[in-house]
Amino acid sequence: MDARHKAGHDELRMMHQDPTKKLAPIRHDWSRAELRALFELPFSELIFRAQAVHRAHFNPREVQISTLISIKTGGCPEDCAYCPQSARYHTGVRVEKLMQAETVVAEARAAKAAGASRFCMGAAWREPKERDLDAVCAMVTGVKALGLETCATLGMLTQGQARRLREAGLDFYNHNLDTSPDYYGAIITTRDYKDRLDTLAHVRDAGIAVCCGGIIGMGEDVEDRIGLIAVLANLPTHPESVPINMLVRVEGTPLASQRPLDPLDFVRMIAVARIAMPCSMVRLSAGREDMSDETQALCFLAGANSIFYGPKLLTTANPTRDRDMRLLDKLGLTPMG
Ligand code: SF4
Repeated sequence: MDARHKAGHDELRMMHQDPTKKLAPIRHDWSRAELRALFELPFSELIFRAQAVHRAHFNPREVQISTLISIKTGGCPEDCAYCPQSARYHTGVRVEKLMQAETVVAEARAAKAAGASRFCMGAAWREPKERDLDAVCAMVTGVKALGLETCATLGMLTQGQARRLREAGLDFYNHNLDTSPDYYGAIITTRDYKDRLDTLAHVRDAGIAVCCGGIIGMGEDVEDRIGLIAVLANLPTHPESVPINMLVRVEGTPLASQRPLDPLDFVRMIAVARIAMPCSMVRLSAGREDMSDETQALCFLAGANSIFYGPKLLTTANPTRDRDMRLLDKLGLTPMG
C-alpha cells in the first residue's frame, strides 16, 4: 500500500473506531494530509461522513435559496481566465453601467416574492470607486429594508469601504479565493492571493459575514483543491458561505477549451468542504446549468445546502426556476426560511 492510500485507509479505520469523529468539530488546523485522506476515501464512505456532519449541524431537508444579480456588467480590468466579464477577452458580454438603486430594489422585491431569502449584488470591478460605493450603499439599505439578507461582490475593499458597507446594512460579502495559492498565478495575474486575503480580513473586521469559495475544473489538480480547502478551513473563522463553482467554459475566455470536469470530482469537493467547514453553508454555484439532476442530488447528499436561484448567474446561464422547483420537490427539499 503506498503512503497516500495508507493515509486514506487509516482515516477510514479511525472513523469506524470512533463514531464521534464523524461529527467533525469545528477546527482550524486541517493539515493537507488529512484533507488528502478525505479526498481519497472510497466515494460511499466520503458521502456517508459528509452526510453525518451535515445532519449534525443542519436540517438536511432545507436548502437556502439566494438570488444573484449583476448590478454592473462587463468591462472589468482584471484578467481572471474564467471570466466573461474581463475587458481583455472577446466574449460578447455587453458592458452595462451601474444600475439605479430603485431598479435593484425592485428586482430584490421580485426575488423575495419568488422565495429568495438572500439577495446578492455583483459588480465587475477591480475595486469600487468612492462614488460607486455611495450608490451601492443605497442599494444595500433599500434591499435590507425589504427584510432580505444582503450580499455584495464588488472586488477588493479597503477597511473603510468595508465599514461603510456594514453601516449601510450589508450582511455578507462575497470574495472568492478561486483556487489554491500555488495555482492562483495560472488563473489571474492582475492581483495576488494576499490581496484577496487582505480584503477578506477587512470584511471580517467590519463585522460582515464572509462568502468565499472557489472554482474547480480550471485545470488544477487534486492538490490544488486540497490547497484551497486548507486555506478556507484554516481561516480564523470559517466563511459563513462557501460557494463551490464548476467552471463554465465560456467561449472567448482562456479556459474555453478546458477539459470537462468529472461530476464525481465535483461531488467529492463538496463533501470535503462540508466536512472541513461543518457549520458553513456550502453553496452549489456556477455550473449547475450543465449538471444533471442526479449530480445535483449527490451534491445535496454530500452536504451542499444552498443554491442560486434565477435564470442567470451574473452573465452565465443558470437553471430556470421551474427546473429548480421540480428538482427540490422530487428530492423532498424545501427552501430555508
Ligand atoms: S471575476 Fe470579477 S474581478 Fe475577475 S475579471 Fe471577472 S468581474 Fe473582474
